[in-house]
Amino acid sequence: MTLYIVATPIGNLNDITLRAIETLKTVDLVAAEDTRHSGLLLQHLGIKAKLLALHDHNEQEKSHQLIEKLQAGQTIALISDAGTPLINDPGYHLVKLCRANGIKVVPIPGACAAITALSASGLPSDKFSYEGFLPAKSKARQESLQQLSHESRTLIFYESTHRLLDTLMDMQTILGADRQMVLAKELTKTWETFVAQPIAEVIAWLNEDTNRQKGEFVLLVEGAAVDETAINPDAIRTLQLLQTELPLKKAAAITAEIYGLKKNQLYQLGLSL
Ligand code: SAM
Repeated sequence: MTLYIVATPIGNLNDITLRAIETLKTVDLVAAEDTRHSGLLLQHLGIKAKLLALHDHNEQEKSHQLIEKLQAGQTIALISDAGTPLINDPGYHLVKLCRANGIKVVPIPGACAAITALSASGLPSDKFSYEGFLPAKSKARQESLQQLSHESRTLIFYESTHRLLDTLMDMQTILGADRQMVLAKELTKTWETFVAQPIAEVIAWLNEDTNRQKGEFVLLVEGAAVDETAINPDAIRTLQLLQTELPLKKAAAITAEIYGLKKNQLYQLGLSL
């Protein structure tokens, strides 16, 4: 009666872990996003497993079936096409349901494109905000970026080949051409590439050769510099005073209310004071 959340490689098959192999060998059932795709991985590992499809379109319905099987004493492994399940991949409803029903959930950690990219990016990694995919439509995407424009933590995005340039153009418009970023391409694969440049330079690099726009990408963007000079000095003083008596979140909210500023901007400032 255990659900294992098993991470699989994001390109290099040698990145499967010993625990993942052991788990996939011993469970009663493997729930996979794409049974054909995962069938090939299992075949490569010499594992004969019973597979069941669990993808975005049937997750709610299939989760109930899987809960019944788990309650009947079966062990199940959840895998996605690549990397860690639930990280922009199916599994959230199933795990939530397991927790609600007192079913044990055991993570078997391994590759995740976001963390893999961050670890070698050279951008601040002590604090970061994982944002997954930005909206597909430019207007909504620009709005999301606007909301993130004052975020001082490193931002991590996933993006598909066909939206890569449009997204970078929107980043250039909203976050500025000079904002430093890292494009991490084809991680763990033969053509793994890191391009660490300001946004405008990354766009230029991609436009130099359209082949560069093909593949899998993680986009990491340096957080906004907290610009104290842009904030009214009275607001800074108020924040400092309130901070001595209140938690930062509350102090930032009150100061934002008084001076008509953004809560998050003051919160970030408070952290740096
Ligand atoms: N669950 C996965 C994980 O743990 O990273 C992510 C799945 S999400 C549907 C797929 C996206 O992850 C791709 O569009 C790309 O942005 C990113 N990605 C996955 N593998 C990658 C790789 N080898 N190199 C760069 N990005 C990758």
